[in-house]
Order: sequence, then structure tokens, then C-alpha cells
Amino acid sequence: MISSIQARQEVLNAAREIAASGMVIGTWGNVSARSRDVEGFVITPSGMDYGSMTAEDMVVVDYDRQVLEGSFKPSSETPLHLAIYKARPDVHAIVHVHSPFATAFAVAGRSIPVILEETAQAIGHEIAVVPYALAGSRKLGEYAVQTLGTAGCAALLAHHGVIGCANTVSQALRICYVTEQTAQIALYAHMLGSVPSLPEEEINRLHQGFKNYGQKK
Ligand code: 13P
Ligand code: ZN
Repeated sequence: MISSIQARQEVLNAAREIAASGMVIGTWGNVSARSRDVEGFVITPSGMDYGSMTAEDMVVVDYDRQVLEGSFKPSSETPLHLAIYKARPDVHAIVHVHSPFATAFAVAGRSIPVILEETAQAIGHEIAVVPYALAGSRKLGEYAVQTLGTAGCAALLAHHGVIGCANTVSQALRICYVTEQTAQIALYAHMLGSVPSLPEEEINRLHQGFKNYGQKK
């Protein structure tokens, strides 16, 4: 697991990236990561400008939702991040965005099918919709945990956005990008005709094979 200094920097960088890439507007969205130095996680402060935010502005919260470090209020979605960390020991980083194509599926209540190589590789499952609950509520965290199950890494929040959960911040970010790209292409494919999912067997092969993708030995 990463140090708390590194967690603060990675969370800040990812927060800047979700704004710069258009996955959120203004101060929406949030990012968190566990660190080996704290019994809890580092999370972005609520509603603060990503451009002027510094690593010191990040907030450290424990698993009882108490602020351990930081002078600002933690993200209003702290209960969502907390619920996922408590339920999923394999998750060490979470990115939450409101990217437009994926959010269109979340509004329509339609899951995003596994239609691309990248979706199968980086996510490996259909991206289901978490039933509606008020943003920032504990109920939303509860529902998200139910939808993600024991191994899910991406989900849509009804009328709201996307969550990507992973071992590292960069992987969680990649899950959000791939979710958005898949949603965009699914919508275009729908305009052209049908949107067939990859067969289950191919999804599993691509997902397993991704462990050795690129220069990995
Ligand atoms: P915060 O700025 O409090 O993190 O909230 C943004 C958001 O996306 C709420 O769902
Ligand atoms: Zn949100």
C-alpha cells in the first residue's frame, strides 16, 4: 500500500485529471485512496476548486467517518467511499465522476454492456445501475456495495454518475475512462443498429489476458 504522502498526491492528481478531462464540471466528483500510514483513507475535500487545491488540503478519514487529518470538510460522498472500503478489502482507490455518456445510461436506468476489448479487459463485467438514493447518503453507499458485489469494479449511480473502484488510483481512473468510452460507443452503435455484448467466454478471456497486457512479464 502507498504512503500517506503519495496517497495525497495521487488523489490530488486524479482529481485535477477528472476536471481537465471533462469527466466532471467544476468541483463535482471526488477521489480517495487508502494509505498504509493511516487506519482510513485520503479523500478530496468537498466542493473545492481542483486547480488551486494542494496535497495538504486532502482530508484523512477513518472507518468511523472521523476526520483524522485536514482542516477542510471531506467530500460529501465520504459515506459512499467508506461503505465500499468496508465491504471490499481488495479496493484501495475510488474515483467518482459525472461523465456525460455514462451518466446518460445512469439516467435511463440502463446498464452498459461489455461491447469492447477495453471494457472486457479493464472492467470485465456489465456496468450495472445502482438504484437511486440521495447523493451523499448512507443509503447510496449501501446500494452501491450491493450492486458492486464481491468483485465488481464499476457501477452507475442512478441520476448521478459513475464509480470506479480498484487497487490503485490510476486503475480506478482508467475504469472511469473506459466506462465513459464504452457508454459513448454503445450509444453510437445503438443509432446504427444493435449493441451486442461480447460473449461471456470472450469477456473472461480478455479480462484474464489483461494481466499480461503490454510489457508485463
Ligand atoms: P463533493 O465536492 O462533496 O465531493 O461532491 C461532489 C459530488 O460529486 C457529489 O456527488
Ligand atoms: Zn457525484
